[in-house]
Amino acid sequence: MTAHILDGKALAAEVQRNLTVQVENLTPRLGRSPGLAVVLVGNNPASEVYVRSKSKKAKQCGIAVTDVHLPSDIGDEALQRQLRELSARADIDGILLQLPLPKGLNEFAALQCIDPSRDADGLHPYNQGLLLRSEYCPQPCTPKGSMALIDRGRQLLGLPTDLSGQHAVVVGRSILVGKPMALLLLDRHCTVSVCHSRTKDLVEECRRADILVAAVGRERILGREHVKPGAIVIDVGINRTAEGTLVGDVDFEAVRDVAGAITPVPGGVGPMTIAMLLQNTVDSAQRKADG
Ligand code: NAP
Repeated sequence: MTAHILDGKALAAEVQRNLTVQVENLTPRLGRSPGLAVVLVGNNPASEVYVRSKSKKAKQCGIAVTDVHLPSDIGDEALQRQLRELSARADIDGILLQLPLPKGLNEFAALQCIDPSRDADGLHPYNQGLLLRSEYCPQPCTPKGSMALIDRGRQLLGLPTDLSGQHAVVVGRSILVGKPMALLLLDRHCTVSVCHSRTKDLVEECRRADILVAAVGRERILGREHVKPGAIVIDVGINRTAEGTLVGDVDFEAVRDVAGAITPVPGGVGPMTIAMLLQNTVDSAQRKADG
């Protein structure tokens, strides 16, 4: 068996085409384009690349982007004031605070200064609470994008959309990816196991998975032996090898002829994360227009 490759770039392009139409319809109703503020603090080169890509894709969909670049020595108080000011602007529907913040800044306190209805990344603790309660909220972008890729995988494999009773294993328990991913899978009625650095037998746990999500940040930590034949494998990890290439947490070449469907790195979860950021922004504008 050769796995279906879950092309995140193509799926993200499809989402962005639909968003462009949604934005076109929404703009006359709002009397302006939906607005996204992209906030970068400091000069982390990787963050600069991510932020540029997010701004560019947003503009392509017709979203008005306010780029805010702040110095790394801004301090907690001034950063929080900036975020509160952006939250009060009528023309901004989504605010993205690029993480990680430079050392010394309080990430948790900063996130709480973003108006929860404009929390494009879905990381405000209020929205995390809503997610836990299965209430409507802007969902965190990487897990939301990963769910869309799982759905695409099911479709390619000719399986029903309903995930009831599927065994899902999430490797990683971060607040950014692992935990919300587990909640979204639970909401879709999967039986979910969450693994982490203290898990006793990772191979044994992973091999039970119909849906396996890797969010660890360790180069090719999951190999062929971790994958049940036919499983859908979502590789969230982004790791740079000693040779400078980007690879995931899954050994793609070893796993591709045992899995049913697998995301590549790059070109899998990454583009979908950006697409979901734009989706959250446009959805927030849509809710304003609908009253
Ligand atoms: P993180 O906060 O460092 O969390 C990593 C998780 O992996 C932790 O829960 C840790 O367990 C677990 N872990 C570490 N070593 C392990 C091992 N040997 N066996 C099993 N579990 C282990 O990372 P993150 O923010 O969730 O990100 C994970 C990866 O996804 C990174 O490569 C990141 O760059 C990538 N990422 C990609 C996107 C995207 O858009 N594609 C978005 C976000 C993140 P403990 O809790 O026990 O320490």
